[in-house]
Amino acid sequence: MPNCEDCDHYWRADELGEGGTCPTCGRTLDTTPSKTPWHFKLLIATLTIYLSWRAVQGIEWVIHKI
Ligand SMILES: [Zn+2]
Repeated sequence: MPNCEDCDHYWRADELGEGGTCPTCGRTLDTTPSKTPWHFKLLIATLTIYLSWRAVQGIEWVIHKI
């Protein structure tokens, strides 16, 4: 949902002016839909870091076994 920081107001897509501008102040707003919620990105990032850490541990274990 596009948010105008100047007006501190969330607008629906059909409320926006021509070219995705704020109907009140005319400012061009970011209408890019954010399909990925931030907590999902955080989960993926955490999982990636965790798996990388596990991979390093696994490699170290193999090195010590040789
Ligand atoms: Zn505005």
